[in-house]
Amino acid sequence: TAGRDVEIRTEPVETADGVEIEVAANLGTTAELDGAVEQGADGIGLYRTEFLFLDREQPPDEDEQFESYAEALEAFPEGRVVVRTLDVGGDKPIPYLDAEDEENPFLGHRGIRRSLEDDSNLFETQLRALLRAAAEGDGRLSVMFPLVSTVDELDGALDAVDAAAESLSADDIEYERPELGVMIETPGAVLMADELAERVDFFSIGTNDLAQYVMAASRENDAVAHLHDPLHPAVLRAIDRSVDAAHDNDTWIGMCGEMAGDPTATELLVGLGLDELSMSAVTIPEVKAKVAETDTQAARELAERAVSASTISEIRELLTDTS
Ligand code: PEP
Ligand code: MG
Repeated sequence: TAGRDVEIRTEPVETADGVEIEVAANLGTTAELDGAVEQGADGIGLYRTEFLFLDREQPPDEDEQFESYAEALEAFPEGRVVVRTLDVGGDKPIPYLDAEDEENPFLGHRGIRRSLEDDSNLFETQLRALLRAAAEGDGRLSVMFPLVSTVDELDGALDAVDAAAESLSADDIEYERPELGVMIETPGAVLMADELAERVDFFSIGTNDLAQYVMAASRENDAVAHLHDPLHPAVLRAIDRSVDAAHDNDTWIGMCGEMAGDPTATELLVGLGLDELSMSAVTIPEVKAKVAETDTQAARELAERAVSASTISEIRELLTDTS
């Protein structure tokens, strides 16, 4: 029933005391762009580019990727479009790219690891397409890297962006450098958040993977679904720590995991200091309505109590008391 009977707000939304929170849509394919605009998204907070690579036998070439990224920008001439580089492996297998069978795919070769080690040509092609798209129109294209767990990985990704820019220059092709960010979805990234934040323009928290790795509970196994829950105090503390590291380094921070689209968590997330929330488009009207009725001072107090709680049931109780 998400989204029904709630006013659609096409303008950016502010809290009751005037703090703007960007509310954006998660995107699988460009076919979802119209729906995102209709639900009042301020932009795209997570474009999962894996879908461009699925249901085919060969990866899309640079021009095809460029067209898709430019199309997303065109749909949001005033908003930001955050494109995530290919996040293959784990729950996102791509048959023609998944070479070896792994014992533990979720702890194996996935996300940025693949882009830096096995699929570096694909990575360069994607970065070239993204840098070209960034030069299109007035939209603001941002690029972020998935499943980073070390500073070296981020440095490697940033070097790859430099290399893509150099190769475009050498080919005399127009490009712009986008805003660059990193997904916070591993405990390693949380613990190194200060050093990561010094190197990028923004963070985006992926609570689906972050909860999985902080709680050691698979996102795909119903038997441990009660542990794979971002409301666990350990996950909230990881989020809290990441927000502090981001803001200490003048880096903005969003959230694009499922938690961002849960209206019962909106006040808590505003209180934790998230600058942007990105979610499946259908939940945008409800989350925008929640933001509009939130007072940031009360939200901060709620977040402080939640972060100092010992158990998930204490946190759930705090949330029902305030909603
Ligand atoms: C996440 O892990 O929370 C996330 C947003 O990315 P994905 O669900 O695509 O892994
Ligand atoms: Mg993820």
